[in-house]
Amino acid sequence: MSIIDGKMIAQKMRDALKARVESLRKAGMAPGLAVIIVGENPASKVYVRNKEKACIEAGIHSEVIVFPEQATQEEVLDRIHALNLNPQIHGILVQLPLPAHFDARRVLDFIDADKDVDGFHPVNAGALFLGKPRLQPCTPYGVMKMLEYENVAVRGKHAVIVGASNIVGKPMAIMLLHKGATVTICNSKTPDLAYHTRNADILVVAVGRPNIVTGDMVKEGAVVIDVGMNRLEDGKLVGDVDFAGAAPRAAKITPVPGGVGPMTITMLLENTVETAERCKETV
Ligand code: NAP
Repeated sequence: MSIIDGKMIAQKMRDALKARVESLRKAGMAPGLAVIIVGENPASKVYVRNKEKACIEAGIHSEVIVFPEQATQEEVLDRIHALNLNPQIHGILVQLPLPAHFDARRVLDFIDADKDVDGFHPVNAGALFLGKPRLQPCTPYGVMKMLEYENVAVRGKHAVIVGASNIVGKPMAIMLLHKGATVTICNSKTPDLAYHTRNADILVVAVGRPNIVTGDMVKEGAVVIDVGMNRLEDGKLVGDVDFAGAAPRAAKITPVPGGVGPMTITMLLENTVETAERCKETV
């Protein structure tokens, strides 16, 4: 068994990105990312701070726009409209969740698809579905990069995805499908989860529940990717997979923390640099 070191892979990718940022800056086009956060969700604040820090380290111009909890949707849409038109901003991200009085779908759809560095806009989701990806959702995109780095063969393998959200499970399934995997997607209605997970050559778990996959649910020699991030009462961060039980059976496995998490932010930087490079080509 080997542990997939997401932190190390992410660092290598970030180092490579620095050179691209440098060349953009020399051409007078510093890549810029705007992050909108509404309200006081403590986890969201931490995510936004981490994204800002990663941008600064990479040389990417970063703007964090903070709205109070009681801000109206119109106010946020007005700001997105201004950012859509701002040539210094190449990527726009709205931190989720939004307060209950927001229609999150409407807000996300309002972002210019060419600046949608989270890859959630219907234009980008549709392009991915059709096998002509534009901007891709950061978490599954990061998982694909990890598999590539680790030389994991995908073609002809059985990939099982546990979790079918729009931001992780579904795009993950499509990406693996386009790489030639046979894909099974499980959700909360799947009657016998273990039956499916035990048949997985590549198992990706993205549910948000600790230990939903235990060691006995993992096929001998499988590659296990744990996307889950769960904060226990004692403050410890754990994934969705029982690492101690699954690791001895897996050929490769990601830890939590230090697995998928660092890759997600890296792909956000990658998407921002990519949009800036595309703008440069059209200038
Ligand atoms: P989500 O939107 O809540 O979706 C969870 C998915 O899990 C749903 O499709 C749900 O099924 C499915 N599910 C729930 N119970 C299940 C069960 N018993 N068996 C099989 N499937 C079940 O969550 P998400 O946004 O995709 O995030 C999932 C986890 O990944 C969370 O822990 C989140 O914090 C983490 N995450 C990590 C990163 C990272 O960078 N590491 C990024 C994003 C998310 P239904 O569709 O039937 O409801």
